[in-house]
Amino acid sequence: MALTSLLRLQKVCKSYRLGKEEIPVLRDVDVEVERGAYLAIMGPSGSGKSTLLHILGCLDAPTSGSYWLNGRAVHEADAAELARIRNQSIGFVFQNFNLLPRLNLAQNVELPLIYAGIAGAERKRLVQAMMERLGIWERRKHKPHEVSGGQKQRAAIARALVKTPDFILADEPTGNLDSDTTREILKLFSALHAEGHSIILITHEAEVAHAAGSMRILRDGRLLGAVEGVVEGAVEK
Ligand code: ADP
Ligand code: MG
Repeated sequence: MALTSLLRLQKVCKSYRLGKEEIPVLRDVDVEVERGAYLAIMGPSGSGKSTLLHILGCLDAPTSGSYWLNGRAVHEADAAELARIRNQSIGFVFQNFNLLPRLNLAQNVELPLIYAGIAGAERKRLVQAMMERLGIWERRKHKPHEVSGGQKQRAAIARALVKTPDFILADEPTGNLDSDTTREILKLFSALHAEGHSIILITHEAEVAHAAGSMRILRDGRLLGAVEGVVEGAVEK
């Protein structure tokens, strides 16, 4: 594995058992992601995006094949180790933000640091620095329902980044945002990428995928080669 490699999937297959039948969902997926990359994985509904996301996010294991993350053999990890890798290495960003409604934005951003056992003063410093970086420090005392969709997603991104994960894994991060706010969040991802963060974004929207530095298309569980420009028919609504 190259020194700069962040992660690598090799011949990853995933199938689900339906009665007596094995339904293949991912077929021989190969992908290598360099440190500092900004990769979009695009595919129509049913192509296997969520299944691939669960594997990349260490939420599920492949049926066969290997997954190396930072030189660690994720495919050999048990559930407890997967949870550890997930907490240490991956910052998740979701379509629905997944902020806790009773906590204010600062408390939401602070949560992973509490779980990580980081002391109070250091937590406050990290939360403020990250919220200032993402332009939401003024909104720190607001509850999620009191702020805009873009501000909610900024808070979720701050929460994902605050414990300096190896990469951000974003699942349809603009799926619930209007087009102006979508552009705002894509600009933010581009800025984070320029600062050296590694980002993997999963989407069915071509506009969103085009914002990334590179794009791969998932179709019928196969990851097609790197593409430039939209492939006709790759995306269905
Ligand atoms: P996408 O996120 O691109 O829409 P998914 O990864 O959710 O695709 O699903 C890909 C295929 O795998 C679909 O045909 C879906 O029905 C099937 N599938 C997903 N999860 C399961 C499961 N737990 N059991 C059986 N089939 C599944
Ligand atoms: Mg899905």
